[in-house]
Amino acid sequence: MISIIFVLVFASPNYDLLRKQMVNTQIIQRGIKDKRVIEAMLKVPRHEFVPKSYRPYAYKDTPLPIGHGQTISQPYIVALMTELLELKGNEKVLEIGTGSGYQAAVLSFLAKEVYTIEIIPQLAESAKTRLQRLGYTNVFVKCGDGFFGWKEHAPFDAIIITCAAPELPEPLVNQLKEGGKIVLPQGDNFQELIVYEKTPKGLKKKPIIPVRFVPMRGEIERRKK
Ligand code: SAH
Repeated sequence: MISIIFVLVFASPNYDLLRKQMVNTQIIQRGIKDKRVIEAMLKVPRHEFVPKSYRPYAYKDTPLPIGHGQTISQPYIVALMTELLELKGNEKVLEIGTGSGYQAAVLSFLAKEVYTIEIIPQLAESAKTRLQRLGYTNVFVKCGDGFFGWKEHAPFDAIIITCAAPELPEPLVNQLKEGGKIVLPQGDNFQELIVYEKTPKGLKKKPIIPVRFVPMRGEIERRKK
């Protein structure tokens, strides 16, 4: 009897099962089709990327707080943005807004190298430690303002911005290869997920769905004033 109570009270949830259910109901049933994206979402242990107190909610259909006023995005939005990049496996990808490192971990299965920039030093540090501990050796984290990109590793095949920007930072467009895509939540109060493709004739813009992200900080805010 005592051992049964012990198991009921202290056993940790079956995260693998919860993750499979999450992928079925929130990702596949909502229309994500790219098999590699689905595989990656099945692999990355989202519960390792949220604060301990939120672990029981890690596979729910919602964003969650990760400290410093920031959030880890809803799983569906992570899958959607990843799918929109149409990665094949050999790319060099840049992410702006590392946060917990979850999106970067998902990308690590779909591209050759992932470079990710986070403006809040504590988040950059904890994401770096977490990604190292979990063995994501092709993800590189830097603390800084993503507005300026990461020149030393440019050009990138794809860029993903996971904080909302009123407009596309020019340095990022310059650091994108021709034929490459940038996906970002664009706007202030009203935001839309947008995919830009860099073509010889300029940027081709494709709006996807309305979204809600935390705002991009730093240089882009200063330019607004
Ligand atoms: N992709 C993250 C969630 C992003 S939340 C994940 O998977 O967990 C958005 C993040 O963007 C926050 O951590 C915020 O601090 C960061 N951010 C905001 N402005 C930034 C900027 N100019 N450069 C880099 N990161 C920025």
